[in-house]
Amino acid sequence: RYVRDLANASLPAVTVDGKRVQLAVNISTPQDMEQALMFGCDGVGLYRTEFLFMGRNNFPTEEEQFQAYREVAEKCGENLCVIRTLDIGGDKPLSYLDIDQESNPFLGWRAIRISLERTDLFVTQLKAILRAGVYGNVALMLPMVISSGEIRRAKECLGQAMSELEHEDKDFARSVPLGIMVETPAAAVIAPHLAKECDFFSIGTNDLVQYTLAVDRGNQKVRKLYNYFHPAVLRLIDGVISAAHDQGIWAGMCGEMAGDPLAAILLVGMGIDELSMNATAMPKVRELIRGIDVLLAKDLLQQVLSLDDGVEIREYLVKALKN
Ligand code: PEP
Ligand code: MG
Repeated sequence: RYVRDLANASLPAVTVDGKRVQLAVNISTPQDMEQALMFGCDGVGLYRTEFLFMGRNNFPTEEEQFQAYREVAEKCGENLCVIRTLDIGGDKPLSYLDIDQESNPFLGWRAIRISLERTDLFVTQLKAILRAGVYGNVALMLPMVISSGEIRRAKECLGQAMSELEHEDKDFARSVPLGIMVETPAAAVIAPHLAKECDFFSIGTNDLVQYTLAVDRGNQKVRKLYNYFHPAVLRLIDGVISAAHDQGIWAGMCGEMAGDPLAAILLVGMGIDELSMNATAMPKVRELIRGIDVLLAKDLLQQVLSLDDGVEIREYLVKALKN
């Protein structure tokens, strides 16, 4: 299987009737690119930059960040490299950033909320990303967005980052696509508005499922309830992809759901443009996409959307896939 997977690594994820889906990889460090390239990815769909900030005692400098982002951008070659801005808080604390004890950290001071208050940290990161953009095809992605205002404020910080780089006479990419993670129910519901403010969406199902179903993603006690086939989640995702396309932007997914072949059928039926996952998940998803056609996927999606239970939907898909 392993030998076959590697042999197929250069094949595009294209359906029998010709719909191409970008297969991208989720990474946490530049070293993760080695495995990603071995399995054949169409770029990076999610670079979780917070790992660069963890396991140390102070913030990485602009230069340190630039070196890491540049390395990944270069390894992507012509392909897109989506760098997500700092997503700390929630389940990822930073020992040297003073975050008050919170009773609900997942509903607290995290991700873009921190970046928009600590604009000193945010602008430094944006400068490093813009500089890396000179060495590849870099895009910027904001985590945990719930409003258009947050995107606009992030753009102001981007403007500040550019003018500082200009003054410092440093090379940087002047037009970097700006996207958002759609990972809160609020963002999913107002996706038609948010789509006007950005260049792409990437659906973060790890958080979207947690917030939509009110099920902690890390709590074993409620593990059985954590199901991305829940019809509420599927409907939100379907709406997000349509909202993106209505506005002429692309929609991808970078939560764990993207790496599940069962889910990939439905997502192809919804018209997803990109799936980003851990490197080891790519071969199975590639194989699945190359074996289905869009009409069949759409048909299956319609059948599934008429069911009202996530467990049933999953079982239905397992059976359909066997046939
Ligand atoms: C997500 O929430 O789906 C996601 C990809 O982000 P993270 O897992 O880093 O929260
Ligand atoms: Mg998330």
